[in-house]
Amino acid sequence: MPAPRSSTSAIGRRAFLGGAGALGGALAAGRLAAPAAAAPPPRPAGGLFALGVASGDPTPDGFVIWTRLAPDPLAPGGGMPPEPIPVDWEVALDEGFRRIRHRGTAVARPEWAHTLHVELRGLEPDRWYWYRFRARGTVSPAGRSRTIPARGASLVRLRFAFASCQHWEQGYFTAYRAMLDDGLDLLVHLGDYIYETPSGADQVRRHEAPEPVTLEDYRARHALYKLDPDLQRAHAAYPWLVTWDDHEVDNDYAGAESQDRDPPDVFLRRRAAAYQAYWEHLPLRPAAQPRGPSMRLYQRVTWGDLLEVAVLDTRQYRSDQPCGEGRRGGGNVVAECPARLDPAQTMIGPEQERWLLLSLERSPARWNLIAQPLLMAELRQRTAAGAEAYWTDGWDGYAAARARILTHLASRRVSNPVVIGGDIHSFWVTDLKIDVRDAAAAPVATEFVGTSITSLGVPYETFAAYLPDNPHVRFFESRLRGYVRCEVTPRRWTTDLRVVDDVRDPEGRARTLAAFAVEDGRPGAVRA
Ligand code: FE
Ligand code: CA
Repeated sequence: MPAPRSSTSAIGRRAFLGGAGALGGALAAGRLAAPAAAAPPPRPAGGLFALGVASGDPTPDGFVIWTRLAPDPLAPGGGMPPEPIPVDWEVALDEGFRRIRHRGTAVARPEWAHTLHVELRGLEPDRWYWYRFRARGTVSPAGRSRTIPARGASLVRLRFAFASCQHWEQGYFTAYRAMLDDGLDLLVHLGDYIYETPSGADQVRRHEAPEPVTLEDYRARHALYKLDPDLQRAHAAYPWLVTWDDHEVDNDYAGAESQDRDPPDVFLRRRAAAYQAYWEHLPLRPAAQPRGPSMRLYQRVTWGDLLEVAVLDTRQYRSDQPCGEGRRGGGNVVAECPARLDPAQTMIGPEQERWLLLSLERSPARWNLIAQPLLMAELRQRTAAGAEAYWTDGWDGYAAARARILTHLASRRVSNPVVIGGDIHSFWVTDLKIDVRDAAAAPVATEFVGTSITSLGVPYETFAAYLPDNPHVRFFESRLRGYVRCEVTPRRWTTDLRVVDDVRDPEGRARTLAAFAVEDGRPGAVRA
């Protein structure tokens, strides 16, 4: 669809701008030149657009713009009547919405929680746009997003950040405020966007609701998290790419297996509710809309000739965690578990695995990023009795599946593979190797795992004690919360591990804890 030249009539435009006084904090948040973290966090705009706006799934000629009509976000139906509502949207080249490039009307439907996922087409590649919505005479906050470069375009630089694990009760999402000053092209979320379970300790705010099971429960949980002003600002400032981990549904679930070992048909009804609420509340394209308990989330985004990103789904299609008999459901730290090496143990399912391997060998990009929720590197742990043991919910429970991917990276000479992950609430920089026992072997790929936005870290001393058994780990830190920032150029990949001083302080500040670099053609990160 080509961009119309004169897309707004004088009357229509005046009417649209008439509500511009309602523009909220997200507008200021979207400005790259906004002053540093000195500004107080904006309050949510309130009214119809209390949950803000977002964009995601960028392509060379468009992106998805999102909002939800929810004047009473935590109430059933978000406080909306059960009827379809027409919503106008517009996309401009400038923040003042003087140079409109597209406009249209979409319908917010009650069966999808009055959310909108407008997939824009026909925009120019590699440039920034502004967007906003209007319904019932109210104008939304403005958001800013961008298209990606044309396929094959020669690129000199790309900056992105990635985040994971944001337990509402354990802190404020101030790490996102720091990202507003980072001049990013993209923000990647690697899962645990919401938590279904309460925090045992260290609460700074409360869910004020029991563990979600129904669609309305999950919608209210997503709405609650979206009320964090810094999260809203980050959604308004950058296009996002997202995948989920377990807590969007149920701790440590695996395919149709819940942590509490519910009958699979019962759990799949719950999963369907959780997947629907997830799709509704994130800027995902309409084609990803779930059908029952199934939703296609994994995808590939190719950023010119510089970076190809494969976003993986490591929950929906995986085998149950191995060696769970007689133990709690979900993951366990187990010794003597040969089943974790069984080639039949799948982490991403055969179809997604074929797609991933083919994507990697056909990629035209200099750097090849696998964005997935977990620590991928082997992590040899110890039982209390000192026996070698492994955590079965991570890739160590699916070791043959991991080896198939790493072997493929090596045998097909995939250009500069980098893996990013989350889930473990701590920073890890690792050398990914087919056999980590082979100390002399060069790494096959470089891994960066980010710490949590707020969720409590793993016990530092416990994991630090494992490091001598895991010489492929180049860095570990679990005592700090934050995110990871990456800059990609043809010659060099730079990663900054970013930390916030105190997530219990809504005015917390960020700094760089450590920086690493990977040179083109040489897997393995070195301190920068
Ligand atoms: Fe988590
Ligand atoms: Ca997790």
